[in-house]
Amino acid sequence: MPSQLLKTQSYVNGQWKDAQSGQEYQVVNPATGELIAKVADCAAADAEVAVELAHEAFLSWRKTTAKERSQIMRKWFDLIMTNQDELAEIMTMECGKPLAESKGEVAYGGSFIEWFGEEAKRVYGDMIPAPAGDRKVLVNKQPVGVCSAITPWNFPLAMITRKCAPAIAAGCTIVIKPAEATPLTALALCELAEQAGLPKGVLNVVTASSGKEVGEVLSTHPLVKKISFTGSTPVGKILLKQSADTVKKLSMELGGNAPFIVFDDADIDAAIKGAMASKYRNTGQTCVCANRFIVQSGIHDEFVKALAKASDELKLGNGLDEGITQGPLINKAAIDKVSGLVDDAKKKGADVVTGGEPFSSKGGYFYKPTVLTGIKDGMDIATEEIFGPVCPVFKFDKEEEAIAIANDTPFGLAAYFYSQNLSQIWRVADELEYGMVGINEGIISTEVAPFGGVKESGMGREGSKYGIDEYIEMKYLCMGGL
Ligand code: ADP
Repeated sequence: MPSQLLKTQSYVNGQWKDAQSGQEYQVVNPATGELIAKVADCAAADAEVAVELAHEAFLSWRKTTAKERSQIMRKWFDLIMTNQDELAEIMTMECGKPLAESKGEVAYGGSFIEWFGEEAKRVYGDMIPAPAGDRKVLVNKQPVGVCSAITPWNFPLAMITRKCAPAIAAGCTIVIKPAEATPLTALALCELAEQAGLPKGVLNVVTASSGKEVGEVLSTHPLVKKISFTGSTPVGKILLKQSADTVKKLSMELGGNAPFIVFDDADIDAAIKGAMASKYRNTGQTCVCANRFIVQSGIHDEFVKALAKASDELKLGNGLDEGITQGPLINKAAIDKVSGLVDDAKKKGADVVTGGEPFSSKGGYFYKPTVLTGIKDGMDIATEEIFGPVCPVFKFDKEEEAIAIANDTPFGLAAYFYSQNLSQIWRVADELEYGMVGINEGIISTEVAPFGGVKESGMGREGSKYGIDEYIEMKYLCMGGL
């Protein structure tokens, strides 16, 4: 077990702290069921203190220059990359993803700190041509204030840096509640921020065994001006309601139900490569994972056969072991949910091409990579976010049918399609009601592009030149009598 970065107390105002109640909770390895660490189980009172101290820190952090913030963030990014292996090991232990994926996430997560450290220096104001000769009209940009973030377990590092990096770059301070299953990566990040010279109180992490109590403080406290959440749509809706009374600025990255459309003339090798990357990343547990394969009848059988073959070649096991490409699901509830969806589809007439059941292993929560055909309306899997290694395949004949199936959901995060026909590419890209569209590409996340959804998948964008706007207020200055 790596030690220098393994922290188990919450990190508030530059100090490692037990919960005021003295309570702890257990963090377990989903690949083995073994205890990794006992971590501070904070409650409302701990979160309130964190918010107050973050506010004190804000009063001086907002006055630092963009260059000062940028230099600290650069050091922080470098330290993250120097400690990539150790961070990845902690991440794999607490969330189960294969070590190579964890290393990839450390680099991806770190890239937001690098990117927004650079963007800090490019938050320009405006000078607007005035409507009268004796006036000047200006726009000044200022940090919004104390921010809060509530994050999920599937990307224990990247979902945090996508929020704290733009916040800190903009001159805000932040209080984060990481997912209960994955507090250790978040705390390790704090240790490295401290080593990089980030002043106390700028970054705070409050760990808790449940989101409810701490989440309520983070979404209702008057000193919190902005809340950024990544997680399920039902919890996002709770936070939207809770933050209404104090009219907070909001960023919400909620559930998805990504269609993956394959047209007859698609390059099938590229489509399979994209499908495997999009579907099986983190064992199907990402909000942009392909959730519904929608395949044109002329290529359907060939695509299904190749997808099943590639799925059978995946290697399940403990992500720390050599050669493993599929880790476990996060917990027993996840296995029950995936099993329930597959069993319901089977009962209603779906065919199992491969997989279709849990994979037995000592203590771990594994499900076999699965391909199902004959998916129809009325099956739960046709509408629900699976969050597991299952590929349900719909068959269609005409382009309009594919678009209708793809858009027939309240969600609108990521969509993918494969086609070689340029006019079809533009038509379909225009029609899909999604915030992000992968065209002949299955992996679309990068710090340089705006990540986010429409409809019930949320609001706001993370990453890119737009991402920092979420943490900035515009102030219009009108100078008269000149
Ligand atoms: P997931 O399916 O990814 O676990 P959740 O939305 O349940 O999605 O969890 C995402 C984050 O939201 C976690 O950090 C969790 O602790 C937190 N959370 C869960 N319930 C609430 C709540 N009622 N209020 C605030 N945060 C919550």
